Amino acid sequence: MASRDLNLLEPGTRKRVGWLLSWCKKQGIDIIVTCTYRTPAEQTTLYAQGRTKPGSKVTNARAWRSWHNVRRAFDICFTDGKKAIYSGPLAKWNEVAAKAKEIGLTWGGNFRSFKDKPHFQYEYDHTGAKHSLSYYVAQEKKAQELVKKKR
Ligand SMILES: [Zn+2]
Repeated sequence: MASRDLNLLEPGTRKRVGWLLSWCKKQGIDIIVTCTYRTPAEQTTLYAQGRTKPGSKVTNARAWRSWHNVRRAFDICFTDGKKAIYSGPLAKWNEVAAKAKEIGLTWGGNFRSFKDKPHFQYEYDHTGAKHSLSYYVAQEKKAQELVKKKR
């Protein structure tokens, strides 16, 4: 099961989730975060869904091909306070997406291959430079190697 823990996100991404959540609250838009960091193994399991496992396809990304694997993506959905609402009117999504864009996030609803409305990702480093996913994957792998060595 992938995590909803905001603390597992890269700091710049975590900060922006906070901004987005508090902005939505002010607008009276109730959203919750449904997913943050995913391990490569969790990504593999998710990729299998709708392919070799039952269910409908929820991602086009294999392990290490998702921004969730580098702690730089999160998924949200609307809520009525009791249950999660994954669809929601497009106007509402567009409203949230516009704010997200303003604070530097990329919205999955604009993806060409797989429209992923619940998905937001942050592609800039702490200096404000934009990097590709493979750049951050290399960083994340290096960080995980260091953790392994310390054990
Ligand atoms: Zn996502």
